[in-house]
Amino acid sequence: MKFGGTSVGDASCIARAAQIMAQAAGENGCVAVVSAMSGVTDRLIEGARQAEAGDSAAGEALVEALRRQHETALASLLRREEDRARIRLKLEKVLAEGRRLTEGTALLRELTPRALDAISSLGERLSAALVAAAVRELGVPSEAVEATELLVTDTLHGGAEPQLERTRDKSQARLRPLLEKGTVPVVTGFIGATTEGQLTTLGRGGSDYSATILGAAMDADEVIIWTDVDGVLTADPRLVADARTIPVISYREAAELAYFGAKVLHPKTLNPVVQAAIPVWIRNSFAPERPGTKITPEGRSIGGGVKALTAIRDVTLISVGGPGIVGLPDVVGRTFSTTAAVRANVLLISQSSSQNDICFIVSTADAHRTVEALRKEFAQDLAHQKVEHITVDSNIAIVAVVGENMRGTPGIAGKTFNALGRENVNIIAIAQGSSECNISFVIEEKAVKTALVTTHKEFGLGAVTNG
Ligand code: ADP
Ligand code: ASP
Ligand code: MG
Repeated sequence: MKFGGTSVGDASCIARAAQIMAQAAGENGCVAVVSAMSGVTDRLIEGARQAEAGDSAAGEALVEALRRQHETALASLLRREEDRARIRLKLEKVLAEGRRLTEGTALLRELTPRALDAISSLGERLSAALVAAAVRELGVPSEAVEATELLVTDTLHGGAEPQLERTRDKSQARLRPLLEKGTVPVVTGFIGATTEGQLTTLGRGGSDYSATILGAAMDADEVIIWTDVDGVLTADPRLVADARTIPVISYREAAELAYFGAKVLHPKTLNPVVQAAIPVWIRNSFAPERPGTKITPEGRSIGGGVKALTAIRDVTLISVGGPGIVGLPDVVGRTFSTTAAVRANVLLISQSSSQNDICFIVSTADAHRTVEALRKEFAQDLAHQKVEHITVDSNIAIVAVVGENMRGTPGIAGKTFNALGRENVNIIAIAQGSSECNISFVIEEKAVKTALVTTHKEFGLGAVTNG
């Protein structure tokens, strides 16, 4: 079971989460994975950046704010002062580490990816200690476990990839004995360590991924991701008011939604469980009686084809083109070798049939270095006007229409674009993967809400229960 930031956001949320764990422990046994309390990771990263800029007071302010937040929760979660004192000692150790890390950063005015991982992981280390204590408070044995002891990754700080076999060996060796004693291990989400023991993180929102990695490593019957909404919804409820819970959805569909920006799941969440076909549930920790969404290998077929919509903002459209590129057979190859060399993740590609324009989308964080590298790669061609332009547009967003059974359902693209035309939403580019599981299109950023609401209505996603 994984509990996200809002599900451990304050003392009453932690108490509710602890209840859910205690009950599961009594029934089947349960390993818990927890996020940092909500807002903590953002604050840690901001503090790290301030320290990098030379602000030597930033670390102290950060540590003080975290101490207050966790102390408040501790005070109302544990009745006995001696228990509180024991946890406080643990929290203080982590906080002291935070202070040293930020001081070092401020002194050097340098924030290495490794240091940023060490700082941004502090939130999970604080919350795991609190949550385990809250479970013990219910009379159920529980122990906070650092994921650095379990989850082995490569060395790519800020987005590390797990090594599943090693992770399995370590997790079984460390967690199995706890489960056999009826103890609930509360593992820090988001975190791993290299084979040398250096701490890494799995990327923002990575606790979902931690949960499925450990679920696969422990041969779990199921993985339950407890969050603050009733499951995977037909659209982001913050943008589409009548979005509904999807009762059953396939790995493919859920992965597609996650990849195209549905924040409810980290994009890589389903990778570890596909092989063993372990079902993943998304449920609401604030309303645990509701069933939520079940993600299964096959999902369930529905008539209309479209199951959900999603959007990614913070993306940039880059286009490489000009009439001259028709005669340059290697432009496509060179363009994407360049994006690969700078490790930019390409989210969507579209090429016009006259071949005089290749456009693709990367996240805005990757855009600057991608364009720099492209300008270098094509410097000669630009000088000789074989390539006329490399242009950049950041005021755009991708909207994706997702559903497994869109394959063989004609008219979905037509219906989508008709509806958007009616609402004057201008389509900048379109891509449909050959899987037909997804039609994605690029629009102006400011049209995202209109596009989602219109398409949601057009496919009747709010009107009937899907699944
Ligand atoms: P957690 O802290 O539990 O990991 P997140 O904030 O990362 O939670 O993800 C849950 C949020 O994802 C929801 O509150 C919701 O606003 C957002 N979201 C975006 N798209 C969807 C969707 N299709 N279904 C459900 N939630 C979505
Ligand atoms: N706390 C981390 C983050 O905010 C990981 C997570 O919550 O999944 O990105
Ligand atoms: Mg999340």
